[in-house]
Amino acid sequence: MTQCLFCRIIRKEIPGRIVHESDSVIAFEDINPQAPVHLLVVPKKHIDSLTNLSKADRELMGSLFLTINELAKASHLARDGFRTVINTGPGGGQTVYHLHVHLLGGRQMTWPPG
Ligand code: AMP
Ligand code: ZN
Repeated sequence: MTQCLFCRIIRKEIPGRIVHESDSVIAFEDINPQAPVHLLVVPKKHIDSLTNLSKADRELMGSLFLTINELAKASHLARDGFRTVINTGPGGGQTVYHLHVHLLGGRQMTWPPG
């Protein structure tokens, strides 16, 4: 997956504003933020999209969501609330095909999303 943008950020081949890194999960600032806090929380393992998740990824996804919890608290979002988004496939608006969760906060979110 040498051409994958997020794999390249994970390998530090291109710069990313990394705010968290563990053996299995990395988080960095979105380059085009849609809220005062806009992080991308990403499994280091390359998984194209949520559609490609397998049972072998159960523990990884647990780690991913625990990381989101920690980052939301560290970014002072836990009290007022925040939004997590996973865009999947063309209809879901996915543009980077390496599974990631958007963590957005610091402003009032609206519903329905665009
Ligand atoms: P999605 O549309 O859900 O696939 O989200 C992809 C996200 O990656 C978008 O919000 C982009 O702004 C973001 N993005 C694209 N290139 C970079 C980059 N080099 N560093 C950080 N975020 C990026
Ligand atoms: Zn990748």
